[in-house]
Amino acid sequence: MDKKKKRTIIILSTLAVIVLSGIIFYTSYHKWNEATCETPKTCSICKKTDGEPLGHKWVKATCETPKTCSVCKKTEGEPLGHKWEEATCKTPRTCSVCKKTEGKPLGHEVSKWTTIKESTCSKDGLKEGTCSRCKETVSESLDKVAHTTGDWEVKTNCVISAQAVVTPGEEVQKCKSCGKELNSREYTIELTTSQRNAILKAYERVNSWHCGRDYLINELLVSDDGYPIEDATFAVDHMNVDWKEEAVKYAKENGRGESKNKLTEEMLYYGFNQEQIDKALVAVGY
Ligand SMILES: [Zn+2]
Ligand SMILES: [Zn+2]
Ligand SMILES: [Zn+2]
Ligand SMILES: [Zn+2]
Ligand SMILES: [Zn+2]
Repeated sequence: MDKKKKRTIIILSTLAVIVLSGIIFYTSYHKWNEATCETPKTCSICKKTDGEPLGHKWVKATCETPKTCSVCKKTEGEPLGHKWEEATCKTPRTCSVCKKTEGKPLGHEVSKWTTIKESTCSKDGLKEGTCSRCKETVSESLDKVAHTTGDWEVKTNCVISAQAVVTPGEEVQKCKSCGKELNSREYTIELTTSQRNAILKAYERVNSWHCGRDYLINELLVSDDGYPIEDATFAVDHMNVDWKEEAVKYAKENGRGESKNKLTEEMLYYGFNQEQIDKALVAVGY
């Protein structure tokens, strides 16, 4: 064989191999679509199939949905429907399977109540009865009753200044049974001449000499100045005076060189009470 022939044979056989393998490759090539519930793996070009369909994954029917494939959502048959149990006193109409409810409980039916505890103005009462439907003993609270309004009484006294100017006080109406304050209003007083003079005198006295309440009333205003006991008491009890402070002032002005016992005795005599005296003694350093 000459060289030329030899080369032609090589080229031809190479071409033949290429064409042949192309044919083999083409006939064995498929474009597979995955299997579904109802169709097997299928070639979209030649429709050749491989294996079996997957089959549905059935989920059982419920009260409200039919038997359903969880993959492709295909359904079969009808929903089962609810199994209703009728409403009772305490529960609404309820499906015994899925527990779905409809409407409201009926509530108890009590025809005859017995009062167990009467209500007052501050506390609810209690009544009991038997339900004619379920025979259960039922209790309910009874509403509070209204308060009983009492008379007006002074809560905060009027205060009268050293110039006999009256600052109004407060009076209230309380409930007669529970004591709760129901109404409140301002009140003021018209001073009589004797009350007015007693006030002016009382301030004058207490400013020049710091004494206690009782001494101011009894010894100074009544005995020394001659006011009636009612006016003297009225005046002193409506003054703008802090008796604890007066006690401290007394102890500061008169305590020098005095023993604790002697000063206590003196202050009791001048109308201070034990509590006022104790605080005053502490304030001056005893
Ligand atoms: Zn194919
Ligand atoms: Zn399916
Ligand atoms: Zn149901
Ligand atoms: Zn009932
Ligand atoms: Zn009350």
